Amino acid sequence: MNKVVKFGGSSLADATQFKKVANIINSDKSRRFVVPSAPGKRFKEDTKVTDLLYQAYNAKDQDTFKKTFDLIKKRYQDIIDELKLDCSLDKEFEVIEKAFTDKIGIDYAASRGEYLNGIVLANYLGFEFIDASEVIFIDENGNYDPEKTDPILSKRLSTVKNCVIPGFYGSLNDDSNTIKTFSRGGSDITGSIVARNGHVDLYENWTDVSGFLVADPRIVKNPDTIATITYKELRELSYMGASVLHENSIFPIRNEGIPIQIKNTNRPEDEGTLIVETTCHKPDHVITGIAGRQGFATISIEKDMMNSEIGFGRRVLQVLEDNQLSFEHTPSGIDTMNIIVEANSFIDHEQQILAGIHRAVQPDSIELESDLALIAIVGRGMKDGRGTAAKVFTALAKENINIKMIDQGSSELNIIVGVKNVHFKNAIRAIYHTFIDEEKKSGFN
Ligand code: ASP
Repeated sequence: MNKVVKFGGSSLADATQFKKVANIINSDKSRRFVVPSAPGKRFKEDTKVTDLLYQAYNAKDQDTFKKTFDLIKKRYQDIIDELKLDCSLDKEFEVIEKAFTDKIGIDYAASRGEYLNGIVLANYLGFEFIDASEVIFIDENGNYDPEKTDPILSKRLSTVKNCVIPGFYGSLNDDSNTIKTFSRGGSDITGSIVARNGHVDLYENWTDVSGFLVADPRIVKNPDTIATITYKELRELSYMGASVLHENSIFPIRNEGIPIQIKNTNRPEDEGTLIVETTCHKPDHVITGIAGRQGFATISIEKDMMNSEIGFGRRVLQVLEDNQLSFEHTPSGIDTMNIIVEANSFIDHEQQILAGIHRAVQPDSIELESDLALIAIVGRGMKDGRGTAAKVFTALAKENINIKMIDQGSSELNIIVGVKNVHFKNAIRAIYHTFIDEEKKSGFN
């Protein structure tokens, strides 16, 4: 058995956390490939090293730069001192300071958090350090380039027993030797790329929570943890706002069948959440998770005989495309078409879009509503089951919540309901209560 272990910023925020990480790695020989983030927050008001790096790079004057840069240096020096490591980053900091002064690039600046943490961690563990810029290649849009990366990285990994590869960055795939990062939180993606090319059996992603929760704990008190979730369910929930893992981390391993286990560095005994391609494991409940987002708007277009007008939908959607606006859903009736869009992006182009729709399809009327929240009820357990939608609607009706929109894809993996923003939290609580609390009481499973 071989594993990749990725540790997030809070897991490596100071020397105490480093010790926990080393214990985890040393307790299991199969944990061969280690991917660290930069040191994160040690306490609530603290600043992540990555944010300090951005601030230092963008500093308006030398004084601010120096202050911020010194803070960064101190973060690492404290770790080195407390762990009594025989390791100096002085030379590294000289090079970095010069590169900052030469304005070598914001991605280079941000990547140094992981780079330096990788050096320190490799030293502490006695593992080989592999600079991600030599083995991971990223295109200019921030996507990993498998063609260039895979042969180089898999060859390199086959030659090492253990190693530390910093997360979040690689080189631009144009042979210019420029450092390029993924989007924020991108060390999760590095973990997946290393998992794929190290041909491992498991990718453990260590963070500061014990896995994915069935619902947002800021809305539902003490929600259950999801034991097993499929990639598809996770995509749905992440898209709707559940964030533990970077949403692009699934892609590198989607076709490799490598599961991801979310684990808590501060509570390693907790089982966490296992993310798999597919599973026969019966879910604990009919639904796996509930997630939602506020801030959507609905454009309702009415026109008599719309249903027989060929190309109507295409012409409407063309207007959105012309205005570079993506849409979320398009529930429609016989003579109505509703388009749900993100309110903030819509408002910027509102009048152009309305005029465009009038020109394109000459509707009888267009109405707008802008305070919509969408809630996704996701679960592989719904497929072919009966009564899930009825239960959602009953739960909301009992709370006097009007449903403004319903959407269920034919994959039967989710039901999406739209409610007014003001009902958002109550709706999630009501659904959680019906599917989790009530099911537990009635002895489901
Ligand atoms: N350190 C980077 C960030 O804060 C990347 C990561 O932690 O995954 O976004």
